[in-house]
Amino acid sequence: MKKQVIGVLLALMIVLSACSETKSNSTEASTTPDEKLKIVATYSVIADMVENVAGDKADVYSMVPIGTDPHMYDPLPQDTKEVSQADLVFYNGLNLETGKGWFQDLLKVTNKTNAAFVVSEEVTPMYLSEKGKETQEDPHAWLDIQNGIKYVDVITKQIIEKDPDNKQYYLDNQAAYVAKLEEADQYAKDQIAKVPAEKRILVTSEGAFKYFSKAYGFEAAYIWEINTDNQGTPEQMNRIIDIIKTNRIPALFVETSVNPKTMETVSNETGAPIHSKIFTDSLAKKGEDGDTYITMIKWNIDKVTEGLSQ
Ligand SMILES: [Zn+2]
Repeated sequence: MKKQVIGVLLALMIVLSACSETKSNSTEASTTPDEKLKIVATYSVIADMVENVAGDKADVYSMVPIGTDPHMYDPLPQDTKEVSQADLVFYNGLNLETGKGWFQDLLKVTNKTNAAFVVSEEVTPMYLSEKGKETQEDPHAWLDIQNGIKYVDVITKQIIEKDPDNKQYYLDNQAAYVAKLEEADQYAKDQIAKVPAEKRILVTSEGAFKYFSKAYGFEAAYIWEINTDNQGTPEQMNRIIDIIKTNRIPALFVETSVNPKTMETVSNETGAPIHSKIFTDSLAKKGEDGDTYITMIKWNIDKVTEGLSQ
């Protein structure tokens, strides 16, 4: 009898130790260096921030293609696949990825609502100004670098939550990246200080520069207020042409993620030249100037100060 009990106990111990061995093996597997986190960002600006924090510990997939508008987007089968497999999904929120509900629908289809995090959660929202739209948030918070730093905080927090073993690595990456962002923010302020105050009116197609204007001391003018609107109606055209003529604005700008035709018409009607392309809702193509969040902001600052100083 005693022998039997010992036999059972021994068998139990072997089973238990085998169990715990499998368990510890599987925990190890999830943190081995070649097992990377899978992270999806809705568009290139967020993807770049995530890459800076996650370094070589994640594969980052950016959904809306470079030069394309994230307000309105039709996800491809590849996007659905990537989101289904993602450990984390980061999106801007603040009324950005809302056109026809494309992003929320995608989360529902892939059952990933719980893996999705809004990077703008710490930002104080600004609102659209047109009549009847005053309760709608303006999404373009990242064009103020101080808000970009808040995005990076949220991204870092969520990545650490998912992969706590590499916490220090992510915190170091965050600190190094934020130092560069602070430097870019100071650069922006220094450059803009050189433009006479009365010349600081920035004309773009979409009214994407509310946060930027507030942060860096500009007045933002535009043809339409947000890309989800009708674009280039006769009323919108008359309004912006009047602003340009009255203020004798020397330079216009056109975003890489909108069709330039409407701004070309405005330029022809007013005689004010389009000085440069500018980045709002997308980075530049890889390898081109403006292909990171920091270089896109620097490009914008340089082109805007140059154009308006004329
Ligand atoms: Zn936009």
